[in-house]
Formats: sequence, structure tokens, C-alpha cells
Amino acid sequence: MYHLKRILVGSWQGNSYLVCDKQTNSAIMVDPGADSEKLFQAVGDITITYILLTHGHRDHVGALEDVRKELRVPVGIHPADEAEFDLKADFHLEHGNEIALGDGGLKVVHIPGHTPGSVAFQLVEDGNIKRVLVGDAIFPGGPGATRSHDLLLKSLDSLAREVFIWSDEVELIPGHGDSTTVGAERPYFEAFRKKELPKDLYGDVTWRE
Ligand SMILES: [Zn+2]
Ligand SMILES: [Zn+2]
Repeated sequence: MYHLKRILVGSWQGNSYLVCDKQTNSAIMVDPGADSEKLFQAVGDITITYILLTHGHRDHVGALEDVRKELRVPVGIHPADEAEFDLKADFHLEHGNEIALGDGGLKVVHIPGHTPGSVAFQLVEDGNIKRVLVGDAIFPGGPGATRSHDLLLKSLDSLAREVFIWSDEVELIPGHGDSTTVGAERPYFEAFRKKELPKDLYGDVTWRE
């Protein structure tokens, strides 16, 4: 089991994460959103091997340049968000890639909608997947914000295809606030998918809309 360190950063109190492997005292940093000093404190004597972004929004990349300069490790970004937000990846995160950490790794799942290159990272621990860092793709009670109705529909399709195929106990760990599970969201998600959605519905949407 990895040890997951959550660091609250920035004025929006976004979640940065260190996915730590105790055996090798190494970790992968996910979403250095702000407050590089706070992130370095959390790192301590742990060796960071990669920096990964769930997506390119400012509140997830605010400390990226500081952190990359200090830690000198490769930065992985989905190519669609590298282009959309004018970022610079050292390597591309593509659907199905696995980024090694200790005996397991983080598996990339592409969930377009909130942004074109939004990805989730499945924590592959002892061959099992019970925890997933989902960025802003889904929160307790609804999908991540979208900029148009078509993007809302795209986000729902992505969630149906990639997330709601997982078993109920899988924990969804978002880019802001607290976690939820697939099972806790599933009935609301399914009811929402059956509704006739108004054509002007997008932005911050909840399953109860
Ligand atoms: Zn976002
Ligand atoms: Zn965010």
C-alpha cells in the first residue's frame, strides 16, 4: 500500500498529493498547485521520481515551475492539456500508460470533459486498484465544471466509460475537498444520465440538477 500525503495548497485549498512508496522512500508528486515551500516541507527526505498533472488548470500547476526547477524530475502531462494550457511536458501521459513506483505504479486513465486532457491516476497496489486520484473530473455530488453543454455531455460519457465501470468500493480522490466512492455516486449518476438535460446546462453541475 502506498502512503498518500495530501497537501492543501493555494487560496482555493486545492489538493496536491504525494504518492509515497515506503520501501524505496520514493514518491510521485501530483498537481503542484501552489505553495512550493509547503510542498518541499512535505517532501522532506523522500526522493521524488516524477511530477504528474491531472490537468492543466492554474490551481493545479501554480507551483510547477518552482518545483520542477528544484527537484529536476520529469513532468508528465496529457498532450491535449499541454497544448490547451501552453505547458511543457517532459513526457506525455497517454491512456493506459503506467508510471512505475516501487512494486506497482500509477495507471493513466483519460477522462476528457473538464479539460481536453484531464486524466485520473489509478494507484496500482499489490496488483489491485482501490484508490484513484481523479483531479477535477468528478467530485462528491457531481462532475467537474465544464465550459459548454457539449463538454458536460463529453464529461458524462467519459465518466460512464472509464469510472463507473469500476467496482463500488473504489475510492475517488479529487483535486479539491474530500473523497467519495464509485458506489456513493453511482445511483445519482445513473439517475442524472436518464434525465433530459436542458441544453443550456453546464458549469458547476450537481447530480441533483
Ligand atoms: Zn480544473
Ligand atoms: Zn481544480
